[in-house]
Amino acid sequence: MKTSLFPALMLAVISLMSCTSQNQSDRLLLTGLQVIDIETGDIAENHSILIEGNTIKDIFKDESKAADGARSISMQGKYAIPGLWDMHIHLRGGQDLIGSNKKMLPLYTANGVTTVRDAGGDLTPSIFEWRSEIKTGSLNGPYIYTSGPKIDGPDPTWEGSIEVQSEEDISKALDSLQSMGIDYIKIYESTLSGEAYLEIIRQAEERGLTVTGHMPMSIFIDDAILAGLDGIEHLYYVLKGTSDREGEITSKVYNGQLGFWDAVAELKDSYNEDTARVFYQELVDKNVYVVPTLHIDDVLSFLHEEDHSGDEYLAYIPDDLRQTYQRRVRSAQRRDAEAIQFEKELNDLFKKVTHDLQQAGVKLLAGSDAGAYNSYVYPGISLHRELEAFTTAGLTPLQALQASSYNGAHFFGDYNKIGSIEAGKTADLLILNENPLADIENTTDIYSVISKGKLLQPEELNELLKSKN
Ligand SMILES: [Zn+2]
Repeated sequence: MKTSLFPALMLAVISLMSCTSQNQSDRLLLTGLQVIDIETGDIAENHSILIEGNTIKDIFKDESKAADGARSISMQGKYAIPGLWDMHIHLRGGQDLIGSNKKMLPLYTANGVTTVRDAGGDLTPSIFEWRSEIKTGSLNGPYIYTSGPKIDGPDPTWEGSIEVQSEEDISKALDSLQSMGIDYIKIYESTLSGEAYLEIIRQAEERGLTVTGHMPMSIFIDDAILAGLDGIEHLYYVLKGTSDREGEITSKVYNGQLGFWDAVAELKDSYNEDTARVFYQELVDKNVYVVPTLHIDDVLSFLHEEDHSGDEYLAYIPDDLRQTYQRRVRSAQRRDAEAIQFEKELNDLFKKVTHDLQQAGVKLLAGSDAGAYNSYVYPGISLHRELEAFTTAGLTPLQALQASSYNGAHFFGDYNKIGSIEAGKTADLLILNENPLADIENTTDIYSVISKGKLLQPEELNELLKSKN
């Protein structure tokens, strides 16, 4: 893992972002860039990007055109990629944590993460407020797609979830989510029945909603996919499709003979290469996205032995939010040697599965699961760690990057507007000192960030760095 000046720089960006005025020239010309095509990995050398307002207006070979009246900035030899997307975060923790959640938003932008997907929480009204503040520029942060509250069964684990049992409950839940203006449906399964789960997917599908989630272990994954599931959050559920004993394990869960973790253990032990291959093809055919969340697994698997008190990024996490990290720390400390061994093996299998899913052509989404309660997974930088975990699993840097902005924008059907560096698209850019296709860790070597056309540039950062010291 590369260490850099970045945490200090990040503070500077945050301060800068809160004081930069909006009345810069409306036309911005960035010259001398190596522009990376996120679809092919081709690099257009020595190109200029013309930005007007929040939109990429034009991209052209330097000196081939003039851009009169534009504020021109040389970025000679720097690399431009689309702003990064973190496709699985949480804004949550109840009324007391509203302020701290809001404080985390600039961390995403400062780390080049210009879009996030909130995967369910209890702060939905605040999220919509933040979203409009970000849009008008009065708050600095990423664009937020949100599922609103999670849907779950009675007395669910997570505060603020919508509780459903009957078909009618489900219909009302979807009515209320739609009236809030959510972007997709997120299902959780702490107490939800398999029947209700499938019914949510069917009804969401009828309404044309995108639906993703965890999954009760008491149903077959094929049934969820046939009902219309659009995305699988975390790899535990993918293991159902890779097991040659899914039927037997599913019945045992259904009959109350197996709990979640025992089921995962049996699925892991019954992993079968051929079964997996057939299942991955089904995911490709049905266009089901998978969100591996590898980085948080890396962190949680070693939580019992890793001391995070000196983490440089911990400094950015407010105390009240830090307190929520203790819940998982306490449960990690209760693990015995056998449980620790199991988690390590599972962690290895998840990396193999991620690699094989990519090889099979399944669309992966890079999501870090940053948020309250998810210990030491720091907003912003955690997405870079997720991309690194993807390459550790065997993906190329380009494939890892595609799992962020490119697949993210496709997931929401918005790729015509955002997600790549093309004329007419939203001007969300990350400018890097070194080539990220050569080494994914170069995504942390940030030169500047352009968020909705607003530039955060190095000279200003350096000034602020000096004034901090
Ligand atoms: Zn999550």
